[in-house]
Amino acid sequence: MPALNFSAEEILPELLKFFDTEGKEGKNQTIRILKEEIPDTPEDTYYEDAMGADFHKKPRLKVGDEVTLYWKQRTSPKDSWFCRRCGALKYSGKLMYGMVVIEKTKPECDCGVRYDFPQKLGKVKITEVFEIDMDNHNIKSTSGWRGEKINILARMDGFKNASFMFRWFDKQYDLSTPKRFAVYRWEWIK
Ligand SMILES: [Zn+2]
Repeated sequence: MPALNFSAEEILPELLKFFDTEGKEGKNQTIRILKEEIPDTPEDTYYEDAMGADFHKKPRLKVGDEVTLYWKQRTSPKDSWFCRRCGALKYSGKLMYGMVVIEKTKPECDCGVRYDFPQKLGKVKITEVFEIDMDNHNIKSTSGWRGEKINILARMDGFKNASFMFRWFDKQYDLSTPKRFAVYRWEWIK
């Protein structure tokens, strides 16, 4: 089953809200970079689309795909548990007879937060996939994007508003030149 991995503290509260309410509230979308891709040979059939951007990888997920959501899957041991406030690794262990058997202890989080959440957050089904071009203050796509629509996109992604979203993506991907992204939206399965 395909996976989506998350590690940005900025979106953690909304991701946990989604987890806690079993999909009734919270983050239900992610925006993923589509890396530039140089065709193997000039004769390759590559596309140049309506937005003028070309040579990008296609979105790797499609509508109907079932996907597992993880927190920091790539950078922490299997079955890790994390601090709710800051998302830091607390320990790696597994639940047996309702008790957590700790396999590898880590120093307690500085936050002093008691409640943890597991690496595996749940399963979702992809309900919508589309592509956007984003620079550090605007979004272009085949349909028009302005003002409140961009704020809604940002909030569905777990950011407070569009400025927080632009700032985060600019820091990650340098949006002084626009980059292509795939937007995936989903609904909770379990
Ligand atoms: Zn913490």
